[in-house]
Order: sequence, then structure tokens, then C-alpha cells
Amino acid sequence: MPDHASSRQKVDLRNLTRAELTAFAAAHGLPAFRAKQIFSWLYRPGISSFAEMTDLSKELRESLAKEAFFSRLTPAVKEVSNDGTIKYGFRLDDGKMIESVLIPEEERNTLCISSQVGCAMACAFCLTGTMGFSRNLSCAEIVDQVCAVSNDLREHHLGVVNNLVFMGMGEPLANFDNLIKALTILQDELGLHFSERRITVSTCGLAPQIIELGQRLKVNLAVSLHAADNETRNRLMPINRRYPLETLLDACREFSLPRRKRITFEYVLLKGINDSDQDAVKLAKLLHGIQAKINLLPCNEAPELPFAKPGQQRIDSFQNILKKRGYTVLVRASRGADISAACGQLAAKSSA
Ligand code: SAH
Repeated sequence: MPDHASSRQKVDLRNLTRAELTAFAAAHGLPAFRAKQIFSWLYRPGISSFAEMTDLSKELRESLAKEAFFSRLTPAVKEVSNDGTIKYGFRLDDGKMIESVLIPEEERNTLCISSQVGCAMACAFCLTGTMGFSRNLSCAEIVDQVCAVSNDLREHHLGVVNNLVFMGMGEPLANFDNLIKALTILQDELGLHFSERRITVSTCGLAPQIIELGQRLKVNLAVSLHAADNETRNRLMPINRRYPLETLLDACREFSLPRRKRITFEYVLLKGINDSDQDAVKLAKLLHGIQAKINLLPCNEAPELPFAKPGQQRIDSFQNILKKRGYTVLVRASRGADISAACGQLAAKSSA
């Protein structure tokens, strides 16, 4: 029986960074090295109870189980796309559902995780946006997605998660404190031990939080740009009225990246809206002087959304203009569309 079944009052240790766990342990009269031991157990593959932490005394394990627990997620739904993409649906303690998507590529497994239930940003082209905002995920709920998928891969001998992107449901920078804690645990060598170069936070453009993120820790940044002028961006992304392009790009210039890394700018191509040659030229000028690479995402269509994907020629022409001006530009293949796991398609229905 998991330790947390009857434990609303208990502390979820997966909500604590190593420093916080050390303070928690100290408050219970435990020395720092014990906290370190416990912390490292929490993130070992397959661990599900204090009883398994065999280098702690039985007495300590029992008293921990009285005061604390550590949450775990188990997939309620798992769907495999015909291109190998796997979508996991997790039911949270309050009945709400979130989704994570594993994208196996030749050289690595990328896991796309959620930071909120729903999203308040209301981008016009995004299905998550149409479901509205429900709540922030806790630090534990963010980290638990990674643990759960890693365990599942291990069980099926499918390798390990070696790249993480915050591109699932929600706006990570709108859940700032929990994001920072989760990143701290994900990067901790005794936690999940991800290199700063293997985690990317994607944002619709919360400028002050972009700057603060870069000051707090090192991580890759992706910015969902989607338009090269304020008029178009205002129409597509309400956040642009608060932080217009000039403010957003100033924040990007201030952001301190991992060494030799560039900011990724994501640009969803919407037929007849932002996909003309002039738009490409404007985009090239806008990003001038920024260490940038550009990901073009031909719009994933959905019946609820009034947007279409441009034809291949339009996409090629847009890409070529940027390439000619010296940018690294990738057209991202849409993965997992048959199971609604592609960008902007995550909109799990919650039962509560
Ligand atoms: N809120 C964050 C994280 C979501 S990432 C952000 O905005 O960056 C999800 C990515 O998919 C974003 O770049 C988003 O703009 C993009 N996206 C949303 N709807 C899409 C659609 N219909 N087609 C293609 N990409 C889409």
C-alpha cells in the first residue's frame, strides 16, 4: 500500500528540494547526511515506499512514514501513436487529468511535460488554451511525470528519458515557484540529474519571468513567438498586450543561456495569417542580433480551431527566406497527431 493513501496531512517529500528536505530533516532532529540519503532514495527508479530505503534504520523508516510520504503518478491512460509517440494521461489526487508525451527520436527520447492543468494564456490556435485554466501543478506533480514515464520505459526496455521539454499543458513561467523547485530537483545530481543542456522551458512570453528564470538557474529557453509584428501577435496571443514584442525580445537578450546554446523561437505557421514572405522577412529582422534558432510548426489543425496549415510550397518559401538570412531553421514534423498528442492538442478532460 502506498504511503500516501491516507496522508493528506503528511508532507510530500517530492515537493521539497534537497535544501528544503535538509531543513525538514533538521526540524526533526536528523543530520544533513540523512537528508541527503533520503533525498537520493526518492528519485531512484522504481522506489515506492520508505520500507525500500534499506540503509535507513527501521525506526527511522517508520517515523518517516508517519510524518511524510512521497507522491507517485501512475498512468491512467497510455496511447501509442503509429509514429512511436506515446501519450500518457495521469489522474491527479483531485481527479484532474494531465498529459505528458514521449517522443522517441533516433538519438534520444524527449519527454514533453505539463506545468498546469489547463492554461490561462488563451492563445487562439492552441487547444489547451480553449479549455481554460484549472490550477497550477505542484513541484511534485511536475517531477512525478518524469519519474512515472522513466519507470514505464524501464519496464518495457525502451531506454531512458534524456531530454525534457516543458511544452505540454500550461504556461510554465506562470507557475514560477513550482517550476524553479522542479527544475532544481530535475537537475540535482542526487535527484533526476538532468544536464542544464537537456531541459528546455517553453514560454508564450512572460518577459519578467524570463529574466528571473535566467538569473535563478541555467536551462534552455524556447519562446513561442508566432508573429513578427505586434498587431498580428496581439490577435493570436493575448499575452502580447501585456508584454509586446520589444519587451519580450529585450528579455530574451538579457536571458543567460547554457554555454554555446541559442534561444529557440517557435513559430506556428497559420495559413493566410502569419505565413507570407513579408512575414518571414520581418521575422528575420526582428531576431537580428539574438543567438537564435527557429522552429517552424505547421499548424496542427483541429475542428475547434479556425486555422489551417499552409501548403508545402508556402512552408518551404518561408523557411528559405530565413535560411538565406543566416538562421538555423527547422520545420518540425508533427508527431503523434493520430492520438491528439501533437503540439497544441493536449486537452485532457478531467472528471472532477
Ligand atoms: N505555454 C508554453 C508551453 C506550451 S508549448 C508556450 O506557449 O510555449 C506548446 C507549443 O505548441 C507552443 O509553442 C505552442 O505555441 C505550440 N502550439 C500550440 N497550438 C499549436 C497548434 N495548433 N499547432 C502547432 N503548434 C501549436
